Amino acid sequence: MGKRKVKRKPVKKLKSKLDTQFNCLFCNHENSIEVKIDRPNKVGHLSCKICDVNWQCSITYLDEAVDVYSAWVDACEDVNKGRREQKLRDRDRQRDLDRDTDDEPRRRAPPPPAAAQSSRSSFANDGLDPYDEEDEDDEDY
Ligand SMILES: [Zn+2]
Repeated sequence: MGKRKVKRKPVKKLKSKLDTQFNCLFCNHENSIEVKIDRPNKVGHLSCKICDVNWQCSITYLDEAVDVYSAWVDACEDVNKGRREQKLRDRDRQRDLDRDTDDEPRRRAPPPPAAAQSSRSSFANDGLDPYDEEDEDDEDY
């Protein structure tokens, strides 16, 4: 009867220190964002050691530093998206204006003088045929 050595993996969760440092969206430095959780006031503070950007939001008792950070990321994306949409809207409006002003003169412009050109070329053809012209001249005289 051999004693079997049962290897038990300890599921004891090492209470790993939760990340409180993140990358900054503004200056792109790594781990320059520090998050502080103010549980009594239910506020999450976030600030960058490098570029001094700071931000805060209300938190619940479940929120951790990473939640504050992701809320900040979301907020930044919202701001950026809003700005981008505003820019696109401005550009569309500008394009509409351009189109309007472009159309006006084109619509008013006279058609190309195709008739005049064709009549002139037929004139030239007549000139190349001297007999026709002489015949007509004879009749006139
Ligand atoms: Zn920064």
